[in-house]
Amino acid sequence: MSKVKEKGPYKQTLWFGVDLGVYNLVVIADNKGESLRFDGEIVKGHKRRLKKKEFNKYTKVGNKISNYSRYINHVISKEIVKKAKQYNAGIVLEKLKGLKKSKLNNSTPKNIRRVLHIWSYADLIEKIEYKANLEGVPVVEVSPRNTSKTCSRCGYVNRRLKNERIFICSKCGLEIDRDLNAAINIAKKVASKQV
Ligand SMILES: [Zn+2]
Repeated sequence: MSKVKEKGPYKQTLWFGVDLGVYNLVVIADNKGESLRFDGEIVKGHKRRLKKKEFNKYTKVGNKISNYSRYINHVISKEIVKKAKQYNAGIVLEKLKGLKKSKLNNSTPKNIRRVLHIWSYADLIEKIEYKANLEGVPVVEVSPRNTSKTCSRCGYVNRRLKNERIFICSKCGLEIDRDLNAAINIAKKVASKQV
């Protein structure tokens, strides 16, 4: 195997927050607004363009998460790193909390979905970190605390937020896609050093 030479990370001029969305696959944003959003259509487009050989490489084995999730994560991580490099940006990810066995044993359909979601995100983080390292893109992790519940404009924390698609701030009136709101907050955490 040929050894890949790693470059040291460059000095970023902005940060991209990455949110694994409830309603979108992934949203990335700088601290002002949206930069990139992945939905099913983007993934389908890539699938068509990718050579069969490469597709097989990423869909061969998958124990904990589905082959499809693995493949999607490959496509998404590649795009995120490319985009970050293009904007001279660093990548901000949410720190993952450890998986508890009790969660697995208590296997209600809702819990299974949640666990698969975490596994899929762990795989995505791994892929982003690997590709970013090769490209010299800085990566930092921040605490996931309140990233969905905080208003990205005024900082008000909406503790009653459930699964609404739109985040509505009862303090400043901001109405924003919840996943985009979370991605902005993730990017902002680095700027304000809440790591
Ligand atoms: Zn607000």
